[in-house]
Amino acid sequence: MIHYECCPVCKSKSIEKDIDSTDYTVSKEIFPIWKCNSCTVKFTQDVPSQEAIGRYYKSDNYVSHSDTKKGFIHSLYHTVRSITLKSKKNLIISETRVKKGNILDIGCGTGAFLSKMKSADWSILGLEPDEMAAEKASILYKIQPQNPIELFSKAPESFDAITMWHVLEHVHQLEEYVVQLKKLLKKDGVLFIAVPNYTSFDSKLYKNHWAGYDVPRHLYHFSPKSMEVLMNNHGLNIKKIKPMWFDPFYVSMLGELQQYGKNNILKAFLIGFLTDIISLFRNKKCTSLIYVITK
Ligand SMILES: [Zn+2]
Repeated sequence: MIHYECCPVCKSKSIEKDIDSTDYTVSKEIFPIWKCNSCTVKFTQDVPSQEAIGRYYKSDNYVSHSDTKKGFIHSLYHTVRSITLKSKKNLIISETRVKKGNILDIGCGTGAFLSKMKSADWSILGLEPDEMAAEKASILYKIQPQNPIELFSKAPESFDAITMWHVLEHVHQLEEYVVQLKKLLKKDGVLFIAVPNYTSFDSKLYKNHWAGYDVPRHLYHFSPKSMEVLMNNHGLNIKKIKPMWFDPFYVSMLGELQQYGKNNILKAFLIGFLTDIISLFRNKKCTSLIYVITK
């Protein structure tokens, strides 16, 4: 168990408890979420260590790394994924201004995104800690992901793009990762980090039931300000912030389930829709954000 005495992002000692949230997916245990008064990051307090957290990922419901197609939420997740894969590919190509480059995807899961990049003639490399997901990547897409420890064995300035889609919030060695990401990027390389945004419109409605908290698997809960502090402290700059338009619907549906114990598709759709309308005018209010980061 890790008890933070100071902020994991900016090291400030001005930290205090914010809310309690429940692990709805696996253990049903309650975890406190604390907040840094300086950089505004929230973090799961008394979080299981890297060695102990494995059991909190063992669930049929944890869809992020699986390819099951059961139930409405699951099938919606997979339908939306195929649309977002294309927009992610277009984003990589437009932001890097490279048509056929080298990409590293950290936490590549079953490899769908890398497969999309491969079909666009990019050289791909994936890292994935879950052995079952890595095996599926091999079967489904002929991709052989490596263990995340290999991140630290790659040559400096190797990649035009490095992507972490909903991954950084799961990483215990936050500092080491950011330092290494900067090292591995080419001079004009671009880093894409997608994380949930607790300052979103929907998170204010669902409060501690907001699915973006996903304790204890999500160690950190970023705000745009805290992401900026993290990147600037390591000599990186946020160039753009892009909303992830489909996340509000999925996260609101889970929020309904977590808060009221039942699906309420119409209400979740309305909250998701409202979140997107607000995000059209204020992009930092979206449920999940993609940070486009350069050296
Ligand atoms: Zn802080």
